[in-house]
Amino acid sequence: MLESQKEASVADRISYDNSKSIGIWDWSRPPSGRALDDLTELNNLISSVCITDRPDAWKFTLDASGIFTTSSLSNLINALKYGIHSRNIDIPRNKFVPQKVFIFTWRVIQLKIPARSELDKKGIDLHTILCPLCEHHIESIEHALITCPKVSSIWTQILDWWNQNNYSISDINGAIISDQGFPQNAFGSSLWLATKWIACYIIWKHRNLKVFSNKMWNPAMIISEIQSQSYSWISTRTRKKNPIEWHQWLLNPSFYSVPSPNRVGIG
Ligand SMILES: [Zn+2]
Repeated sequence: MLESQKEASVADRISYDNSKSIGIWDWSRPPSGRALDDLTELNNLISSVCITDRPDAWKFTLDASGIFTTSSLSNLINALKYGIHSRNIDIPRNKFVPQKVFIFTWRVIQLKIPARSELDKKGIDLHTILCPLCEHHIESIEHALITCPKVSSIWTQILDWWNQNNYSISDINGAIISDQGFPQNAFGSSLWLATKWIACYIIWKHRNLKVFSNKMWNPAMIISEIQSQSYSWISTRTRKKNPIEWHQWLLNPSFYSVPSPNRVGIG
């Protein structure tokens, strides 16, 4: 109210003396009483303000980049309200799986699959958070895809099918990140990871069929779907010089884990 130039900008009223801001005021009358208290408060507020010659812009101070994104706000709300911290884990690209499987796998590793315990953390009111398959344990993502007794038998059979009985798969890392069995061989490692990602994708699909369409949980059928679907997706994506043959794939896919000139034996 006391400013004599009503159109004055903040920059017109702040000057710097040894990087300390000082006000260059132009009052219509000298401030007194309450106005003097307001001026003291204003001086405190602007004491750390630094005016530059860049144009005005909005800055989102809750993110280090200064740029507002809905995901950064969503992560912040999740962290503060529900204690859910987004995971900064990357998965390697895999040219043997379709995009939808890659995206699903990425969501698993980011804990963004709507298993019942995850929905519960977000405050969604569910009738139960128990696993729809075993009805005994809380359904976390890891439980739904790996550790549920109704699912772990499927993994045992997958390991058996791939001649990987020396190993076990007991957590998300084991199913999605770890290439144990083929760590020294990029081709074999990619095939093995692709198979495990496809297995997770199909297990989750059947979990949803059970929950939403009341379909029966049939491990034998799920294994057979994992075998045929992985064959179909992977064989169309391997190069012509590494053709994959259905019967060999069914018998022992690890046969294909080394590129063709070095393969030995069948089965
Ligand atoms: Zn279960």
